[in-house]
Amino acid sequence: MSTKQEQLDELNEKMLACSKCVLRPSRPGEAEADGTCHQVVPGEGSVEAEIMFIGEGPGKKEDELGRPFVGAAGKFLNEMLGYINLKREDVYIANVVKCRPPENRDPLPEEAQACWPWLLEQIKLIQPKLIVTLGRHSMERFFTEQKISQIHGKALRKDFPEIGKQIIYALYHPAAALYNGSMREVLIKDFKKIPKVLEKIKEEK
Ligand code: URA
Repeated sequence: MSTKQEQLDELNEKMLACSKCVLRPSRPGEAEADGTCHQVVPGEGSVEAEIMFIGEGPGKKEDELGRPFVGAAGKFLNEMLGYINLKREDVYIANVVKCRPPENRDPLPEEAQACWPWLLEQIKLIQPKLIVTLGRHSMERFFTEQKISQIHGKALRKDFPEIGKQIIYALYHPAAALYNGSMREVLIKDFKKIPKVLEKIKEEK
């Protein structure tokens, strides 16, 4: 029986070889143009993480380094993790789409759909106690009918056929909040509530 880490390594290998959608063409050389995807960014962090953060998709820096949230938004995410005494290594950080959309456009619904099974596999394996979605696109994968302006900062339970009962906490995207004073304030306030939300989940278990 392989360990959880070995299973995650295996899953990452599979993701790295994925070319299920147009973001990662299978023909060599085709993805080498500037502004497009150069490599798959599966995600990173602890396989034992209690909290899993899910962003939208890799940007330029993430595509360059093959790691999620390593640009300006990532710096802000690291800063907010510090506010709640956590480090990146304590949590798991992934994205809805694992490949950079051209010129950082929003992922198309078919791209998010093609990548969804990978995210489900990550959740099934890591089994986080709390899923924190970053931004509208990530929230919409879990709540199709909701508005982020209404549900941000609220822990909501939902049952999914593939991954069972999950608790999802929607936040504004750090990149959107970075240069928007009022959104930034709301995001930081919501973020600081994460430890209490997690504590409550553990008490109720
Ligand atoms: N924005 C995202 O949504 N994900 C990243 O990995 C980086 C920026």
